[in-house]
This record gives sequence, C-alpha cells and structure tokens, in this order.
Amino acid sequence: MDTRATIRFGFDNSYARLPRRFTAPTEPAKASAPLLVAFNTPLAEEMGLPVKDLGSSELAEIFSGNRPPEDAEPVASAYAGHQFGGFSPQLGDGRAILLGEVVTPAGRRLDIQLKGSGRTPFSRGGDGRAALGPVLREFLVSEAMHALGIPTTRALAAVVTGDPVYRETALQGAVLTRVASSHIRIGTFQYFAARQDKEALELLTRHALERHYPDRSDAENPALSLFEGVIERQAALVAEWMRVGFVHGVMNTDNMSISGETIDYGPCAFIDAYDPSARFSSIDTGSRYAFANQGAVAEWNLARLAEALLPVIDEDEQKAVDLAVGALRKFPALFSANLLAAMRSKIGLADAEEGDAALIRDLLKAMHQGHADYTRFFRALAKGVRAGGGEGDFEDAAGVFVDVSAFRDWLPAYRDRLVRERHDLEVLAGAMDSVNPVYIPRNYRVEEALAAAAEGDLQPFNTLRNVLLKPYEEQAGMEAYAEPPPSDWGNYRTFCGT
Ligand code: AMP
Ligand code: MG
Repeated sequence: MDTRATIRFGFDNSYARLPRRFTAPTEPAKASAPLLVAFNTPLAEEMGLPVKDLGSSELAEIFSGNRPPEDAEPVASAYAGHQFGGFSPQLGDGRAILLGEVVTPAGRRLDIQLKGSGRTPFSRGGDGRAALGPVLREFLVSEAMHALGIPTTRALAAVVTGDPVYRETALQGAVLTRVASSHIRIGTFQYFAARQDKEALELLTRHALERHYPDRSDAENPALSLFEGVIERQAALVAEWMRVGFVHGVMNTDNMSISGETIDYGPCAFIDAYDPSARFSSIDTGSRYAFANQGAVAEWNLARLAEALLPVIDEDEQKAVDLAVGALRKFPALFSANLLAAMRSKIGLADAEEGDAALIRDLLKAMHQGHADYTRFFRALAKGVRAGGGEGDFEDAAGVFVDVSAFRDWLPAYRDRLVRERHDLEVLAGAMDSVNPVYIPRNYRVEEALAAAAEGDLQPFNTLRNVLLKPYEEQAGMEAYAEPPPSDWGNYRTFCGT
C-alpha cells in the first residue's frame, strides 16, 4: 500500500532544517479504519491547502497520518519543561508529529501537526495516542478561542482511527490536526540549555526571532530582545484569557508557546460563576494553575525562559542576569495594565480614571460572593448601560447573582463613574458587547457534545461548534447555549494527557 497521498502541500520546513538534534524523523502510525469527524474548511482555505476537491475518506487518510502528503517530512521535536514546578530535561513530542510548515497565501508560516498519531522517539512510557473525547475537546475549545479573538493554535481536522486506546477503559482513538504559528515552547529553549548547547540556543533564538518577532530581528542583543517580545505577548495573552474566563489548567513551561499563542488544550475549562480560585484539572491539586494565578505563573515560566537564555544574552553571567531580570521586572506592570484595560472594556469604561482598578476589584468581589456567572453578567450589565444607566436599568444584571447584596452596594459608584464617561452610553454598550461573549464553550455543553460523539452522534458537537463561531452575537434559537450549567452540575474536573 502507498504510504503517501499523491497530494502535495508545498511544505517548506524551516524547523526540520535546523540541526538533527532539534527533531527526530518519525512516520505517523497507521490507522486501521480512519473516519473524518470534523474538518475546518475555512481554515484549510485560509492556508491555501489543495484539499477542496477531496472527499472525506481521502481527508481521513491524510489527516489520520495513514497517507501524509507526498512532500511531508514528518518529525517529532525535542523539548524539556518544568511540569508543576519540577524540571524534566527531556519531554518532546511524545504523541505529536510535525508534518511540515506551509506558507499561506497571505504570507503566514504555519505548522501542521498530527496529535495522537503514534509513538515517537520521545514517547517514553506513553502510547503516542489520543482518545476521541480530548481531540474533540481541543477542536471545540481552540476554535472557540480563535473566534473570541484570542491568539491560539487552530484545529484543522479530527479523525477517528478505528483503533482503541486504553485509558481507564478502552476508548476510540483519534488524531487531531493542529495548526500553529510554531510549536517552539519555553521548554524547547530549556532542552538545549540543560545540555549546555549554546550553539543550538543561538540557532533557536535566531529562528524564533525571524519567525515570530521579525521587527526585532535586527536587535543588538537578539536573545534579550526575544525575551522582551515573549514577555509582552504572554502578558497580553493571559489578560485575554482572563477577559473570557479561561483557565488553561496546565501552564507547564513545555505548554507555553514562544509565539504567544494559547497551546495545549488538555485540562482547560471556562469558569461559570466567577471564582478567582477556580481550577478544574484533576492533577492540579495545589491549585498552582488556578484562574487568578495565571499571571503569576506566566511570570514564573518567563523566569525559566530567562535562565535558559542567559548564555546567549551575555557571555558575562552577571551581566546576563542583570539584563534578564531588568526585562522580567516589567512583566507585572505590563500584565496588570493589560488586565485592567480588559476589565475596563468589559464594564464599558472607555476613559481611564485613577479609581477604576478599585471599582473593578470591588465588582469582582461582589461577583465572587454573589456567585455571579462571569459570562452572563457582563452582557446583562451592557443592557443596563444601553437602557440609560438608571437605577432601575440593572435588574437583568442583578438577576445574574445568587446573592445580590454586594452588587447593589457596588452599583451607585459604577453609575456615578458612567456619568463621567465622555462617550454616548449606546456606544459604550456596543463596545462592551464586542468584548463580552454571549457564548463560551461551557463545560456542561462540551461534555454533552463529547458524550454524544462517543456514541456516534456528532450533532451536539456540530451545533456547539457552530454557535461558538460567533461568540459575541446573540443567535436566535440558541439561547440555551448561553445558559449557565444546571444547578446539579457540581465540581467539574478535567483530565490531562488523556
Ligand atoms: P502534556 O501534559 O499533554 O502537555 O504532555 C506532557 C508530555 O507528555 C509531552 O512530552 C507529551 O508529548 C507527553 N505525552 C502526553 N501524552 C502522551 C501519550 N499518550 N504518549 C506519549 N507521550 C505523551
Ligand atoms: Mg504539552
């Protein structure tokens, strides 16, 4: 049987051209009965992939890894990482294989990676496989994040392999095709730093700068400039997560992208009622990656990146440390400013005032105490603003609270603050609606979709996927997808590496 499809994607594999120690050539495993369950046609078009005339069985052959495109040069990448604070000098793509890079018609370079397509030289004890549930979960949530306007890897295809994977029970195996601007992680730098491979660190710095920070590629100190770029993007990214209530769940340094995209949707979840301590991952028992901890964790991870970069920041170690510390010190203020800007926009404040941070802090406290749904509340608040911001205009917002007393105490200060805005209330409400989603991938909806898909019914998955394409627009007939979970929906837990 042919091991390659006749199709060519026009790959241009800049990462695989780096020295051999960066990657290991690896062929995807065969799937015994590949079946396409989801395909992202708009993304394929945007990427300029020549798949328009292919039927679903041909797509399933390609994106299961059974018959990769003729010009693919599949590799698994090496990386290390701090997982829950402990360092592993060798992780790597244990269940992912990079088919190659394409340059889109618009000039963007994108990785095409199969996840769950079998063992690689980095698999250690793992089977290299993925189960259908987590594959569809990543498909839904990463595409939802994209539609929310948040930098993220994308999902191009999901294919059932026809082979079982064994977890607590036997599950259907599946392969996700993930698209990313690259798969370079903090852990990639750590891998070479741990081996004192300065030459590789230099090459990787150069590669990452040219690929993700072309404006910085002429910098006098490339490694320091790269570090500053990653600081900026991560400070922006985590604030964006918090704008929509996203908990990544496993912010290990191997899951933090140098490009500033959200990557690795294992145990992630969105909060329903506001709770800064929300965490969903069953293995994050210390709440290291809880909702409100994510800024601090990003900073911790960036410190690990700084350590890895020290040898290429300056030959003089003390000087390198001083430069890196000087850059990292800017993170907290940068992150706070991004988060404050995001929260200001959520409550419709276009102008900035001194007291805004306190106003927002008090609101979040009221929301936490009052068990207010994080998504519904801000849309309801915008209704009050649109109605004129009068005392009686915020009953919908009040209705989101289980215990509304602290919200009622907060409201007069907010109404006073609105009066001082120089913009029209109608305009402010419109701006609020453009940053406050109606629809997020609510955990109970995601679980419902995955449970049905496991039984062969893809309709709930497809409906949810569709609703999440336009998260900021109210969609007639889809009101149920904006509803918080039923009251018996208890302590939700997610599982990673599954
Ligand atoms: P994650 O927590 O999913 O980001 O994965 C951490 C590390 O475990 C990475 O090196 C993965 O490639 C590896 N890994 C996770 N699941 C598997 C699996 N089923 N088989 C082999 N390696 C895996
Ligand atoms: Mg990972």
